[in-house]
Amino acid sequence: MTIEVIPQTMGQQFGRRSWAEPWKIKMVEPIRMTSQADRERAIVEAGYNTFLLRSVDVYIDLLTDSGTSAMSDRQWAGLMLGDEAYAGSVNFYRLEEAIRNYYGYKHVVPTHQGRGAEHLISQAVIKQGDTIPGNMYFTTTRLHQELAGGTFVDVIIDEAHDPSSEHPFKGNIDLDKLQTLIDRVGAEHIPYISLAGTVNMAGGQPVSMANVKALRQLCDRYGIRIYLDATRMAENVFFIQEREPGYADVPIATLLKEFCSYTDGAWMSAKKDHLVNIGGWLAVNDHEVFDKARNMVVIYEGLHTYGGMAGRDMEALAIGIEEAVQDDHMRARIGQVRYLGDLLIDWEIPIVCPVGGHAIFLDAKRIYPHIPQDQFPAQRLAAELYLDSGIRSMERGVVSAGRDPESGEHRYPALELVRLTIPRRVYTQAHMDVTAEAVKAIYDDRERTRGLEMVYEPEYLRFFQARFAPLKD
Ligand SMILES: *Cc1c(COP(=O)(O)O)cnc(C)c1O
Repeated sequence: MTIEVIPQTMGQQFGRRSWAEPWKIKMVEPIRMTSQADRERAIVEAGYNTFLLRSVDVYIDLLTDSGTSAMSDRQWAGLMLGDEAYAGSVNFYRLEEAIRNYYGYKHVVPTHQGRGAEHLISQAVIKQGDTIPGNMYFTTTRLHQELAGGTFVDVIIDEAHDPSSEHPFKGNIDLDKLQTLIDRVGAEHIPYISLAGTVNMAGGQPVSMANVKALRQLCDRYGIRIYLDATRMAENVFFIQEREPGYADVPIATLLKEFCSYTDGAWMSAKKDHLVNIGGWLAVNDHEVFDKARNMVVIYEGLHTYGGMAGRDMEALAIGIEEAVQDDHMRARIGQVRYLGDLLIDWEIPIVCPVGGHAIFLDAKRIYPHIPQDQFPAQRLAAELYLDSGIRSMERGVVSAGRDPESGEHRYPALELVRLTIPRRVYTQAHMDVTAEAVKAIYDDRERTRGLEMVYEPEYLRFFQARFAPLKD
């Protein structure tokens, strides 16, 4: 028998055989096929915002990988073991043990999802006027830092802002930028470095082990803490295993724990890496920070042994943590994302390269060079993709970036992207083929497409609820 090896970008020998899924399908969820007329009605009703579509009107839902994973039979079985005691649930201790085992932090505070943990850490350690450096902003992370009185400053390497740079670790922190910032504002006004694994807004780009080690050294000189956004950290270490010399034979689980050992704590949206539909946590080594966060969690989330999750949620999460760090799982997960990326690259459709961990990012600036950024090219692209074939994606450009709190002007990010986010263990390779063909159809029709105007704008996180109308010639 011969096994076909599909040539890969970046010279990888990453053949189909090696990423075939380490699971089979036991139950299916039917999805509705929509007509062109259905979709035209639906997108107008949604104000050209894919967040405002109803899921029944969506065929392939690539809005997000958040909470959209398929749980395993073991996780579903775990739901039956929920101990719904208000205090001291068995499942909390299982969760705490899993986090200590795989991430290595001492103290755990459960939260309902990632932003609950961001809220706690921001309020616990940020003072009015503080600066928080990080490797590119994330929407909810930065908002919580700002609400706590801080200002986020981006210190990611320049390559991260260049969608065609093939740098293998575009999530890295630029230590010179960080040093300059420390010199300018003073270490005492930097409560922590906000370090994210596989940087979402840069296209799911990883941080190298060498970078986090060097960051640790620099921070130790000034007594600055490093807190990790661990949301997609398991995916991040896959890239370390694949690309960074010396790590090829080290298991994902070992790499994850080593990476975390250079940081002081982490917040987690368990809806991503951890293969559950809801959940999150904060974990830190410092007892004083833990004490504050554990006290605050009872105000905003729930008691410190459930933090907004049911006992059964915590059980499924504890199991998901273990499944997320299996090498076979991660190879198939990232293999599927890359499969879609490679189809688009073959057709010369502009996407962010190298292909990252959780999504393909279409480069709306290069697809619609004739649409100025204040006419929301990525927002339009996402709407067009939906209209063509019922595929739901998400804008990650000027709408997501919001307005500058000082000047009130739009923030114009260098990257104007549409994210096709792949849920874990949910769609098949045929769904990826359909998606690639839809993108190609939109791309071929690009010159006829015009921009949008914003007709409703909410104050916070506007991308979720803003409404748009098409501009005419
Ligand atoms: C999703 C996400 C969050 C916020 O988590 P929620 O569970 O959605 O509240 C924080 N950081 C990153 C990188 C994320 O992707």
